Formats: sequence, structure tokens, C-alpha cells
Amino acid sequence: MKDYQNLIGGCLQPHASDEFLDSIDPSTGLVWARVPKSTEEDANKAVDAAKRAFAGWKTALPAERAARLRQAASIISANGAELAALETKGNGWVIRETTYGMIPVLVKLWEDAASEATVGGRGQTVPTGPSSFSYTLREPYGVIAGIAPWNAPLFTFSIKAAYALAAGNTVIIKPSEMAAASSLRLAELLADAFPPGVLNVICGTGPDIGTALVSHPDVAKVSLTGSGGTASAIAQATAGKPKPLILELGGKSANIVFEDADLDRATESMATASIFTGNAGQICVGGSRILVQRKVFDDVADRLRKRMQDLALHRLGHTLDPRTTMGPIATKAQFDKVRSYIDLAPTEGATLLFGGRSGAELFPGSPDLSGGYWVEPTLFAADSNRLRVCQEEIFGPVAVMIPFDTEEEAVRLANDTEFGLAAGVWTSCLSRAHRMTALLEAGNVWVNTYARVGSDLPFGGVKNSGFGTDSIGEYSREKSCVIEL
Ligand code: NAD
Repeated sequence: MKDYQNLIGGCLQPHASDEFLDSIDPSTGLVWARVPKSTEEDANKAVDAAKRAFAGWKTALPAERAARLRQAASIISANGAELAALETKGNGWVIRETTYGMIPVLVKLWEDAASEATVGGRGQTVPTGPSSFSYTLREPYGVIAGIAPWNAPLFTFSIKAAYALAAGNTVIIKPSEMAAASSLRLAELLADAFPPGVLNVICGTGPDIGTALVSHPDVAKVSLTGSGGTASAIAQATAGKPKPLILELGGKSANIVFEDADLDRATESMATASIFTGNAGQICVGGSRILVQRKVFDDVADRLRKRMQDLALHRLGHTLDPRTTMGPIATKAQFDKVRSYIDLAPTEGATLLFGGRSGAELFPGSPDLSGGYWVEPTLFAADSNRLRVCQEEIFGPVAVMIPFDTEEEAVRLANDTEFGLAAGVWTSCLSRAHRMTALLEAGNVWVNTYARVGSDLPFGGVKNSGFGTDSIGEYSREKSCVIEL
């Protein structure tokens, strides 16, 4: 069992209290590492270090910032196997996905940020007449606090840190206390890649250090990926001295199947996109409301059921086993929450079409895994979109099918949610595809595909799914300059 440390001012440092938080392997329910339970004193130290480092990093040549970001990409690539295993142990995302899916994405992300470092600071000249010369400068904010969730720790660490650093800010990342080991190890690996204080990583709970960081007067901007409740808490903590926020929050995304769709492609994608296999549906863009035109509803239900029975697609098992395709729920609290929605659905009138089992009943002959937080892929059908299981983010491998008759009804049902993160549309009609992309209230709409995300496209939400994106443009601000000639 290893104890991890914070990275502050370029060095690994013991935290101010003696207390640690247990990291639990969700495959077994057993403690495998301990991470710091930092306090406000540690948060203040990290902010001081980041503030001291800002002047030098802000004025570093963009090419130097780019070189250091590229070095970070190389370090991640060289240590990919170790980082993938730590991420897997931390939050139950299966090893085949963290190794072959996540690590290449991280490497590309840091490399993309490096490329943007050399062009992202460009302002523009503005014609204001012959007697003045006007232009804009793009400037970094200063110290950025990046607050990350447990479902994709290294991805959220990277997307916040890489773009904020590329723009010339200094950064403090606070990983989720539920799954922090991979982030603390990445911090250690990157310690020499940046000048001291430019990148800091500290671990602790929201009440202990989250509030201290976001409300610190020297933190210029906050980027949260997390829940709506935490977003409200941050908005309250910063209300006295408003500061810019990027909020990447939850979703309850609709995946809409029209009768003219290629049903093979649609159901194949939904069996993974809605019931995301690798991390068991714990993904913000999960298409967990499957809206299906009534004429093909039963057909789609049958196809989905068959695909979900395919053990090769949803092979539950120890997350470090390369044959495993679907992992457990990351924490006991989240497991209890998912289980409570599975129990709630029939009482609200939903019909169980597939799955519903959880915990030790899935591994009767495996004492090693009986303490894990397992939930099998679960599919319900419901007549109404107003059920709680259709309105609230479950964040697990649970989806609900709801029928509709007309295109107008599909739009109304899809938009009938407080969230607006993503939507999928399956149709062979080009005109309908364009009508739907215009009418759906979501930050991301995918037609005949799902979860097509990448650093080439902006990624953000609308409504209660948040605002802003982790991108170089949002980590710098424009200053107007006018010179009277
Ligand atoms: P969470 O809101 O509970 O925690 C997120 C982070 O906020 C953690 O590091 C936590 O310690 C910290 N925090 C908690 N209270 C705080 C406070 N008062 N001040 C400052 N920080 C505080 O979220 P979670 O349960 O870790 O993650 C799951 C949620 O994240 C889901 O709602 C999911 O949809 C969302 N998510 C969104 C995206 C996206 O890009 N839109 C991506 C991944 C996850």
C-alpha cells in the first residue's frame, strides 16, 4: 500500500495534517492506497506557489511553453502502462480502455495544447479610423483552480492543466478525493517538466480544500467538472467576489431513433453509448434516455436486449484483467445511488427489459470480487419521460427506453430535461437531421454516431449541464488597446 503526496512548488510535500483518505479498489472493495486529506493551509501554500510562478510563466516564450507541454506528452506516453493501471485501480475503468483508449487520448491532448501555445495568444488589430491604432492582446488570467471528478481523473486533470498552461496561466489541480492516486502520480512524473509552482496538484475533500481554493482571492478563474450541487456551492463561495467559472456538469442525454434509421448501427452504438461499457455508464454524455419511434420500438428493444446479452460486450470482471470489458461502479456511495434508481424504476411504472442485478449476486463463486461494486447493464421501458429515472442523472449502466410518435414529440421529449449536455439522432433523412441539430437543446449533437468528442471540436453544455469549455480561448482574456496617433 502506498501513501501519495501533494505536488506544491515543484516538490512532493507532506500535507499539513496527519490524516489520509483511503483509496478503494472498486473491483474488490479493499483499500489499496492512501491520499492526502489536505487542509486550507495546504491550499494556501499551493496558491502562493502558483502565484509566485505566474510572472515567469506568463512571460515565457510561447515556444518554451510548447516545448514543456510536449515534454509532458512524452512523459505520459513513456509511463502509460503505470498511469493506466493506477487509473483503473482508482475508479474501476477497465484496463483495456485506460491503456489503449485513455493514454493515447491524453498524449494527443497535451500535444494539441503544445501546438496551441504558439498561436493561442494572438490578438487582433481593430480598424478604428486613421487617428488611432487599436488592437487586442490575449492575456492569461493568473492562477487557475481545476476541480476534477472521479469518473475520468487523468482526462480532466489533462484537459484543464494543458490548455490553462498553454495560455500562460499557472495551475492548481484538485483531483477528486475518491480517485486521486493516478493524478498525484502524474503530478510527480511532471514535477520537472515545468518550472516550480507552475503546476501544483493537491488532494482533499470539497469542504476541506475545494472551498478554500475557489474562494481564495488569488485564484483568478475556476474550472469545475462535477455535479450541479458542487457548481452551486462554488457559485455561493465566490458570490462575494465573483470570478469567472467554467462549469462542466451532468447530463441526461437523449439518444433518438427514428423509424427510418439504420437500426443495426443505432442499436450497436446504443449498447455501448448508453450503457458505456468501459466505465459502466459513469460518463457525463451517456445517452441514457433512448427515445424510439413507436413503429420500431419493439424491434429496437429486442435488438438491444440481444446485444446486451453478449458477454463479450459486457464482460464484468476484475478491472486489471485485460479480458474485462465492463468495470464496477467507482465508489460505494455511487453504487448505492445506482442501485436505488434500479429499485425505484418499477415503483414508478417502468418495465425491466434487461439486467437489474448487482453486487455479489453477479459473482457467486468469486470471493475476491464479491466485495466489488458491480451493476450489470440494465434497461427499462417507460411510457412517460417525467419519471425520476428519466429526469435525474443516474451515472451508471442504466438506460430507459421511451416511445414517441412524431418528430415534434421527439424534440419535446428530448428537451424536457433540466440538462443539455448531448443528444444523439439516428435517421436516414438529411433534412430531419438538420432540423434536429437546430432544435435540440444540447451542447453536442451527434447524428448517426454518438460521443464523437475530441480536441478538434468544442465540448460544453447548456442549461444545467454548465457553460464554458476547457480550451485555450477560455483560459485567456482579451484586452483592448488604443493608441492615439
Ligand atoms: P462532485 O461534484 O461530487 O465532485 C467534483 C469535484 O468537486 C471533486 O473534486 C470534489 O471534491 C469537489 N468539490 C465538492 N464540493 C466542493 C466545494 N464545495 N467546493 C469546491 N470543490 C468541491 O462530482 P463527482 O461525483 O466527482 O463527479 C460526477 C459528476 O461529474 C456527474 O454529475 C457527471 O456528469 C459530472 N461530469 C461532467 C463532465 C462534463 O464534461 N460535463 C465530465 C465528467 C463528469
